[in-house]
Amino acid sequence: MSDQPFSCRVVEEISCQRQAKSWAWFLDIDGTLLDLAPSPDSVAVPAELSVALSRIAQAPNHRIALVSGRASSDIHRLFGHIAVSSSGNHGAEYLDGAARWVHDSAREFLAEHDRIKEVLAPFPSLFPGTLTEDKTYSFSVHYRHVPRELHQTLAETLAAALQGIPHIQILPAKLCWEIRPAPGPTKADAVRTLHARFQKVLPSPTLAVVMGDDRTDEDAFAAVEGALTVHVGPGPTAALYRLPSPAAARRFLECLSRHPSGLASC
Ligand SMILES: [Mg+2]
Repeated sequence: MSDQPFSCRVVEEISCQRQAKSWAWFLDIDGTLLDLAPSPDSVAVPAELSVALSRIAQAPNHRIALVSGRASSDIHRLFGHIAVSSSGNHGAEYLDGAARWVHDSAREFLAEHDRIKEVLAPFPSLFPGTLTEDKTYSFSVHYRHVPRELHQTLAETLAAALQGIPHIQILPAKLCWEIRPAPGPTKADAVRTLHARFQKVLPSPTLAVVMGDDRTDEDAFAAVEGALTVHVGPGPTAALYRLPSPAAARRFLECLSRHPSGLASC
């Protein structure tokens, strides 16, 4: 892919070229807006990010969706003070204004939830440093603090332990295994679903911008034709543009938040 640097200028130019009248922002959280932390609980939302997102969310003709692997309740805990929509658990949970709903395929996963929880319980003692996270519609097994030489054994033990449980799949993330519904929604479902809802209320044409850092965000990048796709951080991607770090992504949003309505004037 072209892998060009992303900036306010890029958004201005493309908004002009396409005569965009509105903007839909689909933003991953961890590793994109927020620096990766030792554990999911230990992240902090910088004040300047809250200010930037609030300004953009309040601007006419802009809508923001946070699209994350975190549970919706967790997204709300971090960003509930800002008027944003969200999809949690990789497209399983949705929150848009007063509407709240769950993707159909996440329901079958719920039936297996307690069995999976039981299977995962011994992992922190089998592989010290492992952190398991119960997100209701998925589980995460973080191994960031497990010695590197045990990563392969952990992966094999996990796969063997979960074998035979229906309606689940094990997917790799950053130093983490995700146990998710199968066939499950992905972040592509999240972006498509919320994009369709946004288009009903936003003036046309809408420019969609999708930002993410991880393998699961590659699904989101492919969701909407014509979207500006931005990979945050190093590594291979199909995204059109790149920002070097979450700090750079926050600087970009601060820049945008100064004149969100100015994008329409060219
Ligand atoms: Mg991420």
